[in-house]
Amino acid sequence: MPESKNYFIGIDIGGTTVKEGLFDEEGNLLGKVSVPTPPLIDEAGYAAVVGGIEQLMAEAQRPILFVRGIGLAIPCPVPASGNITMMANIQIDATGLAEALRERCPHAVVRYVNDANAAAMGEIWQGSAQGAQNMVMVTIGTGVGGGVVINGDVVYGAFGAGGEIGHMCLNPGESRTCGCGGFGHLEQYSSASGVVSNYLRECQMRGVEPIELSGPSDSRSVFQACREGDKVAWAAVETMTDYLAQALSIIAAIVDPDEFLIGGGASASADVYLEKLIEKYQRFTLTVSETTPIKVAELGNDAGIIGSAYVALRAAK
Ligand SMILES: [Zn+2]
Repeated sequence: MPESKNYFIGIDIGGTTVKEGLFDEEGNLLGKVSVPTPPLIDEAGYAAVVGGIEQLMAEAQRPILFVRGIGLAIPCPVPASGNITMMANIQIDATGLAEALRERCPHAVVRYVNDANAAAMGEIWQGSAQGAQNMVMVTIGTGVGGGVVINGDVVYGAFGAGGEIGHMCLNPGESRTCGCGGFGHLEQYSSASGVVSNYLRECQMRGVEPIELSGPSDSRSVFQACREGDKVAWAAVETMTDYLAQALSIIAAIVDPDEFLIGGGASASADVYLEKLIEKYQRFTLTVSETTPIKVAELGNDAGIIGSAYVALRAAK
């Protein structure tokens, strides 16, 4: 029988899949399951999540009473109070689900955390930012998310907007709207869909036929075109890095972190833009924070389960 008696569950609730991971205190991943996301608003939905924990503990041959913490990463703002009022594109009754989890795992603390914030905590625990106390992570996917870690803890914010870096307004004169309804937000220029939209605008302005794209957030093809020397694609990436570098320099003036991390799907194309980003960041930022490293995140798809388990582990201590 294993000696350790403290286990932690990280649950990453996405639009299509719920991923669950079982961890020991040292952070070893002992098992993983995933199920299609049910509507998390009734007993049937809760049972799907609880069932995942039961399966993980059974497979690892540990009693369920040894679960000391359950962290749930969700794609919407989570205020420090834990009172979640705003829902994105998933159906979830946060209170009901937490109650169902506590009932099945009576010795566990249950904590919600925004998914981008969870990813930042995951990188601190097991990824590129291990050991950093102050770190800011920018997640570049369809949108731009972020996580701000200060003194080892994620900044939730009074209303849950802590780390919503994608919605910094950097171009108030913009006439197109951001996904949130605002104007000129970072996300509009520096997310995967932002890069595509920068690119299509450049094509239109120059009267150039765009390359074939698989969809409105296919930044991967635009980055590939850059690698092949496409000047129009490069212009789109210049716009992306202009705004992202501005955002990082503003954050540096407020938080002055040990390091920045770039994560999310578009971090796989960092070979195209990271050097440019660093160069512009150094140009825009205050001299004292010029040398702040900007690195690429490591954990990929597991960041959510790792980070949410870590949030639960810290809460249990
Ligand atoms: Zn916005």
